This record gives sequence, C-alpha cells and structure tokens, in this order.
Amino acid sequence: MESQEFRRFGKEVIDLIADYIENVRDRNVLPSVEPGYLLKMLPEEAPEQPEHWHDVVKDVHNTILPGLTHWQSPQFHAFYPAGHSYASILGSMLNDGLSIIGLSWKASPVCTELEVITMNWFGKLLGLPEEFLNCSPGPGGGVIQGSASESTLIALLVAKDKTIRRLNIVDHIDDEDEIKPKLVAYTSDQCNSSVEKAGLLGSMKIKLLKTDANGRLRGETLKKAIEEDKAMGLIPCFVTATLGTTATCAFDPLYELGPICNRENVWLHVDAAYAGPVFMCPEYRHLMKGIEYVSSIVTNPHKWMLVNFDCSAMWLKDGRDIKRAFDVKRIYLDDTENNLNIPDYRHWQIPLGRRFRSLKLWTVMRIHGAEGLRKHIRSQISLALHFAKLVGADDRFLIEPEPSMGLVCFRLKDGDKTTQQLLENLTRKKKIFMVAGLYRTRYVIRFVVCSALTTKEDVEYSWDVIKIETDLMYTNLIHTLPQIKTMDEILSREMYEKLQ
Ligand SMILES: *Cc1c(COP(=O)(O)O)cnc(C)c1O
Repeated sequence: MESQEFRRFGKEVIDLIADYIENVRDRNVLPSVEPGYLLKMLPEEAPEQPEHWHDVVKDVHNTILPGLTHWQSPQFHAFYPAGHSYASILGSMLNDGLSIIGLSWKASPVCTELEVITMNWFGKLLGLPEEFLNCSPGPGGGVIQGSASESTLIALLVAKDKTIRRLNIVDHIDDEDEIKPKLVAYTSDQCNSSVEKAGLLGSMKIKLLKTDANGRLRGETLKKAIEEDKAMGLIPCFVTATLGTTATCAFDPLYELGPICNRENVWLHVDAAYAGPVFMCPEYRHLMKGIEYVSSIVTNPHKWMLVNFDCSAMWLKDGRDIKRAFDVKRIYLDDTENNLNIPDYRHWQIPLGRRFRSLKLWTVMRIHGAEGLRKHIRSQISLALHFAKLVGADDRFLIEPEPSMGLVCFRLKDGDKTTQQLLENLTRKKKIFMVAGLYRTRYVIRFVVCSALTTKEDVEYSWDVIKIETDLMYTNLIHTLPQIKTMDEILSREMYEKLQ
C-alpha cells in the first residue's frame, strides 16, 4: 500500500471506528454466530494476488463485525471493563505508526523515558508511597507490562530468586535444588485465576487460603498457614493480596498481611488489576491502608482507566531485585550507565522487545486530565449504585454482598437454580451480557458498569430487560407447577402466588 492510499484509507478507518462506537448501543451486545462461523465464510488459503483495501473493508462489515461481542456497548456488564477512549486509540496509532521496539535505552531513548515519566505521574495520582516511584532517590520504580497475569508471574519469579539468594548468603545453603521444592506461595480462595497460574508457571506450590465472610484474606489466616508450613520445613516465599477481587470486588487488608510478610521475609505482591485506579480518588485510599509494606503492586489502566488493551502498570519497591533476577548479558545489548535512575527495562520483563505503551497512557492522562479520570471513576461507581437501588426496590431480588466500585452482585431470593435460569435466559436473548459469580457458595449474577459510554438511561434499560425476563419466568412457571418437586421450585410457587 502506498502512502497516498494509506492517508485516504486511514481516514476511512477512523470514520468506521467512530461510526461503530457512536452506534454500538443499537446492536445486540452478544453476536448471533455459531462456533466455526468464520471458517465457513473466509477462504482456506491466503490470497495469491494483492487485494484492494475496499474489499477488506467489505469483509470487515460482513464477516468481522458480526462475530464481535461488543465490549464497548453500554449493555456489556460482564467480567470487568475493557478500557477504551479516543485519546488512547490515537496514542496506540502513534505507537504503531512510529514502529519502534524499545529493547534498551539506546534502541529508542524516548520509549524508556516516557515510560518512567508516565509511571511517575500515574503513581502519584494513585497516592502510592514515593519509594515506589522512579523519581524517588531509592531503587523503586514503575514499568508497563502487557497484563496483570504477566506482572504477577514476574513478581513471583523475582521473589523466588530473592529468597534463594538470601538463603545462599544467610543460611549458607548453596544447593538451589534443595531450596526450590520447599518454596511456597499464598493467596486467597478469591484470587484471580492468573495468580494460581503464576504458581504453576513459576513452579511454586501455591496455597489458596480461606477468606472471611466478606471474601477477604485475613492476617490470622496467613499467619497460621505460614507457621504450619515452617514447622513442616517449607519456606514461605510469596503472597499475593487482592485489592478488588474478581468475584465480588473485595479488598484484602494489607495492614494485616503486610507486617506478617515483612517479619517473615516474604514478598507481598498486590493484585489491584481492576480496582487500582479508584485510588486516584482520595476518598477510597483507606482501602489500600498498609501499602507501605508491599514489595510490588499491579493495576491495569487497560481496565478501568480508559486506556486500550494492553497496558498493565507495575511498581516495585526495589528495582534491583528484578534486575538481579532477569539480567542476561549480551555484547549487542550494552546497558546505559546512568545515575538518573533510568532503568534498563528489558531486565524488568519477560520478553526482550517492548512496545511503546506509555504513549497511550500519556495521551489519556493529558487529554482527560486527572480531573477527567476521577470523574470517570466516580460516575461509574454512582451508576452501579443507581442499578443497586433499582434492584433493591424489587423484593424478588437480593443484593449480596454490598456493591463495591462498579460491581453489583445480585440474585433471586428463589434460589440458585432460578438465578442461573434467569442469567441463561438473558444471555440467550443477547440484549445484555453479564456473567455469574459465587458469594458464600451462592450463585450470584455480577453486574458491572463497564463501557465508558454508559449513562443512567442505559442502566435503567438494562434493569428493565432483567425485570421483564424475571416477570416472564414467573409467568411460565405456573404451567410447570404440577411437576415441581425441589424446595427452590416450591419457593418459586409461593413467590409466584404472592405476586398474584
Ligand atoms: C482482570 C484481572 C486480572 C487479569 O488481568 P490481565 O491483565 O488480563 O492478566 C487479574 N486479577 C484481577 C483481580 C483482575 O480483575
């Protein structure tokens, strides 16, 4: 493609994207395709002859868009948000257009330096202790990774390396193979799947400790587990606490876990993938009380902070740990000696190559400003509370636990089976998309305010869809009443009769 064509087609693509976003509300949030649909529509071989861009665009409309689940639809309430903003897309385009790979400072000085600056900006916005920032006099610093999963794996690997070094020096255990099988990591039974996976990938036993009634990992529980394991000759090494769990958005008390980890020489990593940006608003900072005990923390601007996937922000209190763990020397990769605390980021990550991800973090922070970002967070929380108010006014439903951030968990009083049926019916109709969670072994539906386009009217529309589906379910039940046997079903009969 020639540059003249690129200019023309590029503008058309921008229009296509803006049209898509402006009208995404009118589409069903879930697509109507069967598995394998695309295999039937696209040729089996790559084209031999170059094709025209407009033929590609035709296929985008006919074959690509129909297979999308519309994450930016205001009726998308599943999982957690996929960050999106025009400012971020423009930053991503610049990244693609400038086409650099920042594998060392010299490979593109700005790639390292803008990352240092944006991570300082973002860390300050969150109110992180200064020692985590590159601009502090100490060895701390921030880095952008691709995902929270990657960040957590990195933290675990660094903790493993650090523990082995300490035992080498302090306890004079030279045989690594003697140490490694004894290392053990801890997290809670509410952890994200990626935390468990980090244990698998990093070959470390990982224990999912039981949470309290509110889904939080408590200090006493951790202390007891560590004591028991030490008594059995195991070596506690790594703890992941969660600020904003995936199921119910619970916050582990760092002020309880932190002192135990510090005392035991255990690395405390914080997974705040979704909820982290809330700390931009000072009224929520009490939820990270104890952050000063932490060794590393990750949060995803690509979830709740209007930055497009992928952009995962990770800070370490001591960047020397990561460099010691991951440093592999090669003559063609000369490290820049500097006393400005400018890190060689290739030692801070798994791949060698790095994307210029800070560009989109930079464009988003500049175009929205801290004020705009805080407003976004607060407005999404208030939309979630509005939804909770609507659900709470319908006595067929129960909200449990308390809404947290942009998440409201609710269920039918009738029981798990009916709640599950409701979610299945709603998903089949494709108008709104939510997924299930577990709260104290009860089946709940998770409603998350995800799209930045969501308005109060959208939330009311989503609630209307849920309410109508529920009405329909109870009306249908009457036809099947004679066969009803289980307690849930009897309850639903009572519920139904009460409604009459
Ligand atoms: C979303 C999420 C993750 C996974 O994030 P990725 O960036 O997709 O790896 C991990 N932990 C929590 C708490 C999450 O909400």
